Amino acid sequence: MCQHQPRCPDAMAPDHMAARAVARHPEQGWSLLCNGVVSFDDMGEVLPDGRTVPPPHDRKVVLPSQPRVRYVYNTYSMQ
Ligand SMILES: [Zn+2]
Repeated sequence: MCQHQPRCPDAMAPDHMAARAVARHPEQGWSLLCNGVVSFDDMGEVLPDGRTVPPPHDRKVVLPSQPRVRYVYNTYSMQ
């Protein structure tokens, strides 16, 4: 439970990365935040429920490519 003032954002809050670090391991590239989120140097995250959030540069690569592939497939199948 967070004892900070003001309180750290919840792990599910949009600004959850603003929580204070309660354990830092820069030699291993990660920190444990007060709300239970593990934050990595590459901006990747592991949430308290075990879900992983990839680094932002990975998200940019994955998200735009999926609709583009679907669009090409749909165009081809209509001809
Ligand atoms: Zn806190």
